[in-house]
Amino acid sequence: MTEETAQVTGGLNAKVVEVRAMCEAKGFSAEHRRIWEMLALIHTEISEATDAYKKGLPLEAVGEELIDAIIRIFHLLSALDLDADALFEAKMAKNWQRPHKYNTVRGG
Ligand SMILES: [Mg+2]
Repeated sequence: MTEETAQVTGGLNAKVVEVRAMCEAKGFSAEHRRIWEMLALIHTEISEATDAYKKGLPLEAVGEELIDAIIRIFHLLSALDLDADALFEAKMAKNWQRPHKYNTVRGG
């Protein structure tokens, strides 16, 4: 996705382009050989959010880690050259069609 296209479409794709630019400026590569690493680093941010919540830190600290996860997800979406807006809209439409609690019995 080009920066120009993302800015026209706005939404998530604009943020993906913004994150990619920041990551490149800060020296974080989006090479495909890093895909596994990028996936793992998304997990680390969720773990940091879990730890912050567990320790009773201010909810803003939890939120900051969740935003870190989103930033890493956006960087990965960029590396994979995926259309985040299209994927989001398609997945939300699919989820709206699913039954209450998606027919799960436990958890959710
Ligand atoms: Mg973090």
